[in-house]
Order: sequence, then C-alpha cells, then structure tokens
Amino acid sequence: MAKKRDYYAILEVDRSASQDDIKKAYRKMAMKYHPDRNPGDKQAEARFKEAAEAYEVLRDEAKRKRYDQFGHEGLAGPGGQGAPNFSSFEDIFSHFADIFGGGGGSFFDGVFGGMGGSAFGQGVRAGASRKCRVDITFEESATGVAKTIELRRNEICAACHGSGAAAGAKPRVCATCGGRGQVYRNQGFFSVSQTCPACHGKGTFIDKPCPACKGGGYEPKTVRIRVNIPAGIEDGARLRVPDEGDPSDSGGPRGDLYCYITVQEHDFFARQGDDVICQIPITFAQAALGTELEVPTFKNKARVKIPPGTQSGQVFRLRGLGFKRLRDRGEGDQIVQVIVETPKKLTPRQEELFRELAAIEEKHVSPQRKGFMDRWKNYFSDTGD
Ligand SMILES: [Zn+2]
Ligand SMILES: [Zn+2]
Repeated sequence: MAKKRDYYAILEVDRSASQDDIKKAYRKMAMKYHPDRNPGDKQAEARFKEAAEAYEVLRDEAKRKRYDQFGHEGLAGPGGQGAPNFSSFEDIFSHFADIFGGGGGSFFDGVFGGMGGSAFGQGVRAGASRKCRVDITFEESATGVAKTIELRRNEICAACHGSGAAAGAKPRVCATCGGRGQVYRNQGFFSVSQTCPACHGKGTFIDKPCPACKGGGYEPKTVRIRVNIPAGIEDGARLRVPDEGDPSDSGGPRGDLYCYITVQEHDFFARQGDDVICQIPITFAQAALGTELEVPTFKNKARVKIPPGTQSGQVFRLRGLGFKRLRDRGEGDQIVQVIVETPKKLTPRQEELFRELAAIEEKHVSPQRKGFMDRWKNYFSDTGD
C-alpha cells in the first residue's frame, strides 16, 4: 500500500486551519471527487475516500492533536480511536449521514442524503451555466483547434469570500429553516419539503452587506479560458466545458460553459456529413479525353484520375480525406465533383476547331459572329439566321 499522504495536504488547508475551513475544504474535495460526478474513476474514488478519512480525523480535536504530534503513527495501533478505515462509499455516506443527518442542517444532508437522486442532493445546487459563441475556420473544424476565449462570468467576491457580509459581520442563520433553506410541511401522511419562504432558500440573512458585491457574494469578471475544440466539430455544435460557468451559491460545483460553434464558410470546400465536397471545373477536351487532376485537400494535395468520357457533375471519392468522425472511428471522404465548363470566349483557332467538330457531328451551330459594322450594314438585307 502507498504511503499515506498528509491529511492537511489532502484537504489543501494550512495546519492552522479552523474547523470551519477544514469543513469547507472537505466539502470542496467531496464535491470534486464525488462518485456521482466521476463514475468509474478509480483515482477520484481513492481521493474521495482519502478526503473522508482526513476530515474524520481533523474535525475531531483530540484526534487532530494526536495527528499533529505524532503523524499517522499517532492514530495507528491498538488504542482504539485509530485512523478511520472506510471500506466503501456506502460506508462514508452512512457514516457522515448518521452524524449530520436529520435536523443538523449541514451540507452532508445535501450531498450524501438521498443517494442515487441528484448528484448534489437537496439544497446544494451547481452554479449557473454560461454561454459563448466561438468562431472557427473551416480548416480548424477539420483539424481541431485550441482557442482562448474571453468570457464574462461571476467570480466569488474577493472582499467577502462569497459570504455577502461586510468585514466583521456574519451572516445570520435563518430561524425559520434553521439554515437549511428548506422547510417541511405536513401534507396528509407525507412531509413535503419546499424552499424556505423567509430566506428564499439561502439559509442565511445578511444584515450588513459587503460593500464590494452589495451582498450578492459575487463580482462579474472577464476571464480568459482555453477551449479545446475537437477535430470534426460541426457548424452549430454545442460544446460543453465543465466547471467554467458561474460559482454555486450553495457550496456546489461551478456551472458549465456552453460554447456554440460557428464554422466559417470556405471558398472551395463544403461539408456534407463527414465528407468534404468540392467542385472542380474541367474543359470539354479534358472530359472527353480524360486527364489527371491535382486536387487540394486538408492534408495535402491529391491526384484524381479523370477517365475519358467523364460527364459534367460526375463525382470521384478520395477515401479517408474527409472529416474525422465524431461518433465513430476513422474519417469521411473527400468528394470531388467535376463540372465541365463551356468556354465563354474562344480564340479564333479554338472556334475553328469547334466548327470543324460540329461539321463532323453534322450538328447545326450558329453562324460565325460578325463584327458590329458588318451587322449594321446587313441590318435590312440579312434574313437573320
Ligand atoms: Zn462581497
Ligand atoms: Zn430560511
């Protein structure tokens, strides 16, 4: 078994931390590594248990004293009162629920009560989510990109650390709900919980509000966040960035950030599912006689063989040169559509050859175009063909 980590280090608190700080720190860790939030994550599981053990010792002044003096050693041995050994989540839940459950009104009710329900439980809410728009180029949608975005969101007020109370003042616990934010009402045989009407669920009242945040506990800030946009993302996609929204007002985790992706149009490429499509003009001669074309792709240039007798609109598929599939393995294809272009202007030599071709084909074509003066002269005599 690995060497035990220091309890203070586990909870990320000073050795001089108050009971309140320790409780807060544990709450943070329990939230972060809560099994509901980290399903199947063995490391999170270990951290969650480790934090419970650290808290179990440090919240008990006698055990904490022994630990401070003798370290882990001080808690070991046959003296009873040893280091707690939680064997499972259920163990931790029931242990703390037992101590804090019922009328205690502590956070544990919220987090550990009603297992299997909400991840955070009653009274503990995640912060509000935030939205932002991220513009990326067509190429970036193909290759993936990391973007730094500026975001306006709430941060915990630095002056009052989120309590909303002025320096020296303390929030007063709501007498109606005992700080729970919820009250119970009997309805027939059942007891129904509802948001406390006196404090509106906050659990506390602030008599002297913090001047910096006017009692709200938050201050709006502009922050820069690095967002990793995966290859293959589509225009209009919504990307969730966990824990980058607003902070919770009830000790829960931050809300999430949702990035709405806008992919700019490309002059040459377009997207169809996981395929990239492009159109390439070819001449009559190339279509009739066949050719080999150089085609731009995301990765590099590719060559496409155009067989003799190719029709306008015909498509050629370059395997694996499309978008990375988001929901599947591999990549889409690049689809090259050739468009046979009719020349808008002909050189005299080209015209000569086309007329020769028309003669062979015995097809009627318009007569050779005359110059302006010729047409003017012939205006009345010409039968107009
Ligand atoms: Zn404040
Ligand atoms: Zn209340």
